[in-house]
Amino acid sequence: MAIKGEKEGERCLQCSTLCEACAEVCPNRANASVVVKRNVMPQIVHIDRLCNECGNCETFCPYSSVPYKEKLTLFSSIKDFEESKNIGFIVMDREKMLIKVRLEEKVFDVSLEENHSLLPNGIEDIITSIIKDYSYMI
Ligand code: SF4
Ligand code: SF4
Repeated sequence: MAIKGEKEGERCLQCSTLCEACAEVCPNRANASVVVKRNVMPQIVHIDRLCNECGNCETFCPYSSVPYKEKLTLFSSIKDFEESKNIGFIVMDREKMLIKVRLEEKVFDVSLEENHSLLPNGIEDIITSIIKDYSYMI
């Protein structure tokens, strides 16, 4: 059975136009543009540990989004993951592709190898790309 999260995934992943303003205006590079397989457009991923919540990305988003709170967020510590309400994930074991992920305010432990396709496709593709191609972010 798939983990429900399509609604969250759609809201998070699809800016009406990916302008990348939130990546450009962030003084800390806490919003990263990530190229994801199967997607023509790159996706914005928020990197929690680099963000000081200055609000710049919210100010400059032309679609009234709040990128640092609404974009799929990569966490580096379990404490930060648990204290946040962002949809997002933390990599628990990179080799085994084990992650803890929060969607629709629920937390799931997922093995991307064993439970392949349980996550909404867009979310799974982004997380897989980060683990395999952007591991320096983790
Ligand atoms: S709120 Fe965070 S992500 Fe947004 S511009 Fe400031 S540091 Fe960057
Ligand atoms: S969240 Fe806003 S600023 Fe960032 S890419 Fe989407 S529309 Fe642009």
